[in-house]
Amino acid sequence: MTEKSTPSEVRIRQPLRWQIATLAHVRQETPRVKTLTLSLPEWVPHRPGQHYDVRLTAPDGYQAQRSYSIASEPERSGEIDLTIELLDDGEVSSYLHQELRQGDQVEVRGPIGGYFVWEADMGGPLFLVAGGSGVVPLMAMIRHRAARQSRVPTRLLFSSRSADEIIYAGELEKLQAAHNGLEVIHTLTRSQPPGWRGYARRIDRQMLAEAIAPLGEAPLTYVCGPTLLVESVANQLVGLGLPADRIRTERFGPTGSPA
Ligand SMILES: Cc1cc2nc3c(=O)[nH]c(=O)nc-3n(C[C@H](O)[C@H](O)[C@H](O)COP(=O)(O)OP(=O)(O)OC[C@H]3O[C@@H](n4cnc5c(N)ncnc54)[C@H](O)[C@@H]3O)c2cc1C
Repeated sequence: MTEKSTPSEVRIRQPLRWQIATLAHVRQETPRVKTLTLSLPEWVPHRPGQHYDVRLTAPDGYQAQRSYSIASEPERSGEIDLTIELLDDGEVSSYLHQELRQGDQVEVRGPIGGYFVWEADMGGPLFLVAGGSGVVPLMAMIRHRAARQSRVPTRLLFSSRSADEIIYAGELEKLQAAHNGLEVIHTLTRSQPPGWRGYARRIDRQMLAEAIAPLGEAPLTYVCGPTLLVESVANQLVGLGLPADRIRTERFGPTGSPA
């Protein structure tokens, strides 16, 4: 009797289950951004770039659900970091910022996503472009790269409004100072500190051309942030001659807009 193997394409995947995470730690990253460390009873290793869904349920049964990228590297087991920007009228982000306390529980489901991911085995060079909290999944890639001691040439072009709004500023500086092939290029779009020598405008074609040049012909490129930034950067990269199949994008919102 011959044994039939099931082709991976037709294997039925189990639907992801919701689990109850506990808020283990909170870190204020910038005035409007916090990192929540959640410990998970059913932790599984994720691929850097993936996200979790967070679901809130009110006492009357009303539910709200949003996606949040995983900021931590998969080498850290048992817990994940989610880095969340506070939106003034934001239903879920304001709850996570203002109501959730250490030891509180929250429902999560993940890890989700198989396209916007990078693992050290995929190689490079790597070009990462972020607007604001769009840096979160890229940070998971950068932390994974460091944990795996990868030396893949990597450049992060990171747009923030002002110096005090640069998420992970200190950690990025340290990783860059290790001289293992990571370079971080900042642009500050609204205000710049005295003596600022970096870019001081929105990401444009010239900035992209300068930032990508040292990486050669066709680096593996990941772009994440607000929808308009992602679309404009992806179009300009194609205009600069980067093959479209080397560019992966993730749009953060606003909620309800096409992903
Ligand atoms: C795959 C994926 C990963 C994401 N990862 C992160 C992450 O790591 N960190 C993070 O902070 N957010 C992330 N987001 C965005 C997040 O899912 C929510 O959309 C965001 O937190 C707003 O939810 P809210 O309930 O607070 O606001 P809502 O109540 O949904 O919206 C309030 C107001 O803000 C506007 N708005 C909604 N979303 C955004 C947005 N992203 N940017 C600007 N304005 C917006 C709405 O149009 C509305 O006017 C991700 C989104 C996706 C699709």
